[in-house]
Amino acid sequence: MSKFFLEKYNTLDAYVPGEQPQDRKYLKLNTNESPYPPSLRVLDAAFQEASRLNLYSDPECKALTAALASAFDVAPENVLVTNGSDEALNFAFMAFCDSIVFPSVTYGFYPVIANLNGISYREIPVTPDFRINVDDYIAVNDDIVIANPNAPTGICLSVADIEKIVASNPDNIVIIDEAYVDFGAESCVPLTANYNNLIVTQTFSKSRSLAGARLGFAIASSELIADMRTIKDSMNPYNVNRMTMAAGMAALADNEYYVSNCREIEETRAYTVYDLEDLGFSILPSKANFVFAKNPNISGKDLYLKLKEKGVLVRHFDKPELTDFVRITIGTRAQMETLIEKIKEVLS
Ligand code: PMP
Repeated sequence: MSKFFLEKYNTLDAYVPGEQPQDRKYLKLNTNESPYPPSLRVLDAAFQEASRLNLYSDPECKALTAALASAFDVAPENVLVTNGSDEALNFAFMAFCDSIVFPSVTYGFYPVIANLNGISYREIPVTPDFRINVDDYIAVNDDIVIANPNAPTGICLSVADIEKIVASNPDNIVIIDEAYVDFGAESCVPLTANYNNLIVTQTFSKSRSLAGARLGFAIASSELIADMRTIKDSMNPYNVNRMTMAAGMAALADNEYYVSNCREIEETRAYTVYDLEDLGFSILPSKANFVFAKNPNISGKDLYLKLKEKGVLVRHFDKPELTDFVRITIGTRAQMETLIEKIKEVLS
């Protein structure tokens, strides 16, 4: 830390993303990327747009905003396009939150952006089987962020349960982070028409194979979106680059390709759960493109390290309540067969 770093940041504990190692080629099942490449139409659109990179991108992101509005059956005023959904989350925290609550087991970025923005936070314990107890969020009199499905568990709440939470906290903002909603969960976007305290964030990083393009968005009432836009325009007006915008438009137009990839991943998830259970693993019920699994015969850390030696990367979290587990991204069928083979070698 330099002597110039402001004191208010001394305690900042930056988010540590999953490894992106460059030393050798790994089977990467650690950061929940899609195993499928972007569609050809997306590649073509990004390539075409590359020739215009001398020009700034549209700060209003009009075309993609309109396309998203139409895809989600909302008005363009209800949509803000962002540089990954992490940025949407950060804008929402910055715009609306003094203090916030979230589950004790969830996405590790929430406490980080709370700290960065001087927002106090409280963690509400999950149940011993890692579920979010809806009653704990009724009339909490605080802003709320919930990942649905949750990370790293994959467990999801029903839209009816989320509606109870949103309806019981009318004077507070409720952010529902739907990064993993496309793998079998139900979206809360339709609720945004009825609740002016609800913000739903989604991403192109997982189901739409564009993690490297950095594209996310928020859907909410036009008033909330206008406030978030004020934050965006005060920080980074050209927050989404031209190639990413073009890729995003093409991905929406190629929806069938992405929906079919999601169904494939759901099927592969079912096979993977079956194979892992056969090897003695317990697995939380996941509606995401990953599973959270533990085996009584090996610690999460050892399994992670031994698989890494064998060229397979999974994610291990060094938190006491999570340390028995590894989080495994669902790849292609062939990739998961390799994973199972390597796990068998480790366990034997
Ligand atoms: N929410 C959750 C729960 C996530 O796991 C991630 C991915 N790390 C994100 C949001 C952010 O993803 P992105 O910024 O790539 O949209």
